[in-house]
Amino acid sequence: MSGTDRVIYMDNNATTMVAPEVLETMLPYFSELYGNPSSMHTFGGQVGKAVSDARGRIAELINADPEEIIFTSCGTESDSTAILAALQAQPEKRHIVTTRVEHPAVKNLCSSLDSLTGHKHRVTELPVESDGTIDLQRFEDSLEDETAIASVMWANNETGVIFPIEEMAKIAKSRGVFFHTDAVQAVGKIPIDLARVPVDFLSISGHKLHAPKGVGVLYVRKRTPFVPFLIGGHQEHGRRGGTENVASIIGLGKACELAARHLVKENTTVRALRDKLEKGLLAKIPNALLNGHKTARLPNTANISFEYVEGEAILLHMDRYGICASSGSACTSGSLEPSHVLRAMGVPFTAAHGSIRYSLSVYNNEDEVDFVLEKMPGIIANLRAMSPFWQSR
Ligand code: PLP
Repeated sequence: MSGTDRVIYMDNNATTMVAPEVLETMLPYFSELYGNPSSMHTFGGQVGKAVSDARGRIAELINADPEEIIFTSCGTESDSTAILAALQAQPEKRHIVTTRVEHPAVKNLCSSLDSLTGHKHRVTELPVESDGTIDLQRFEDSLEDETAIASVMWANNETGVIFPIEEMAKIAKSRGVFFHTDAVQAVGKIPIDLARVPVDFLSISGHKLHAPKGVGVLYVRKRTPFVPFLIGGHQEHGRRGGTENVASIIGLGKACELAARHLVKENTTVRALRDKLEKGLLAKIPNALLNGHKTARLPNTANISFEYVEGEAILLHMDRYGICASSGSACTSGSLEPSHVLRAMGVPFTAAHGSIRYSLSVYNNEDEVDFVLEKMPGIIANLRAMSPFWQSR
């Protein structure tokens, strides 16, 4: 960062700040409370009790049973574990249904299945509409007798678009197909009630909801056939070997308790800040377009394309003011590839390249939104003044 000491953090879909209360809850488990939760002695037992309390808090946030919670190292591990478990439990089924807009944790796993398992799989990647939403009938039609699992994200990390997971899980259930949802971006931002939504597997990542990096959860509904991904000790009732990441698990428990308390604020205060930012940018900057459905969207996310400018260049200029966000293009091997999510939505090339994702949290305030609204028009105007695409449009 250059030119400023102020950080305006609007990149919460990438990662979040560890909440001060979470850090405070974790600290003793790095120092005096270092016992192994599996040990027979009282010293380890009190750590085991804290892990079990954390499990309860996480279960409460999604209205599940604590026994249905398996701790993992991240959202990616949870996604892999769910999909591979469903395939291993039904070796005769080799078809998977997913969408074109999944996170690489699901997308790249699905495209690697043949080399990973030595068996041929068929993957149906469902298209999305231009506003990022999905057609339920098309989903239903894609399910076959051979389908082992459908894996559909609850909310999209780039656009925030929310999929109708309750309806999709019910459709999958009625067809006898296991249903996994990557809820990494949804948990803590919108209410989730697994007593109502019959998913078999659900993935959570700690660092997206103000817990530390390196801890995740896989929810597995009771009686769902399960094959562990990490085989080793008896931890997690034999469902995931390896000594627990105790401090982070306890941090995640605290983060889920805070998330439950902040859910209303996410959907009122954070939503109002996001709306102000979004409306302001669209009003103040010509050729700015919103990517994603207007309302079926996470309350914290606004993905906006500034036509005829490069996202990465916009980010660099924002960085000079300490404003942190993400672009919809990733710089891979020297070529700027527009995001697979925006491409799936059919966003034109000239807009996809200039897309910026602003993702807010309960730690943002109105002053920050006003500051971003003050700086963005100048940044875009300066870049456009240098853009041959803008001149010749
Ligand atoms: N799924 C979604 C929707 C995500 O946004 C992310 C992270 O960006 C992941 C999965 C991966 O989570 P983790 O970083 O914990 O592996």
